Order: sequence, then C-alpha cells, then structure tokens
Amino acid sequence: MGEDLGLKEYHRVKSAEWYKQNKNRQRENVKRDYYKNKIKWQSRKATRILLKKGSIKLYKICKHCGRKIYLQIHHEIYPIKKQEIIQAVNEGKIYFLCKKCHYEKRKVF
Ligand SMILES: [Zn+2]
Repeated sequence: MGEDLGLKEYHRVKSAEWYKQNKNRQRENVKRDYYKNKIKWQSRKATRILLKKGSIKLYKICKHCGRKIYLQIHHEIYPIKKQEIIQAVNEGKIYFLCKKCHYEKRKVF
C-alpha cells in the first residue's frame, strides 16, 4: 500500500517535472522563432536597402524558371551586416525568385 502511494507520488513528481521542462522548452521555441523571424525581417529589410543603394546587384530574373515578373528576393541565409549580405549575394545565396517558385521553395523547407 505504502509502496503504491510512493509510486503514485513518483509519477506525479515525474509528470510535473516533465510538464515544467516541456513548458520551458516550448517557451524557448517561441522565443527562438521570434528571434529567427526578427533576424529574417531585418535581413530582408537590409537587403532591400542595399539593393536600392546599389551596393548589391541581383539579376532581375527568377533563378528557377527565368520569369521576369512577380519577383521576390529569396534568402537561403539571413545575414544582417552589409558585408555578409554582399558575400551571400556573391555566393548565390540571395537571389530573385518569382512568386510561384518562391512559394514552392518555401514549401520544401
Ligand atoms: Zn520562377
């Protein structure tokens, strides 16, 4: 009897621990997501500014299908600093995709 109670208590503590850990993990995921999105947003903004200023040049053509309409900038990585963005463009990690290809690509990742 006493053993049963002990086991019950053990499970209660364990699940409470699990719940606590899980809650923390979930909170971290949300935080990480927010941070990741923030970086993406900042990177997109910085890229647009550099493009406007002429610091970077992107071929105004969809890298996948060659269409020249509904172009959107696609980022494989999300650098924020100017030099890193320039490097990413040079390495072909930032380029234009048309809306359709961009959507397809996003579905894959
Ligand atoms: Zn395309």
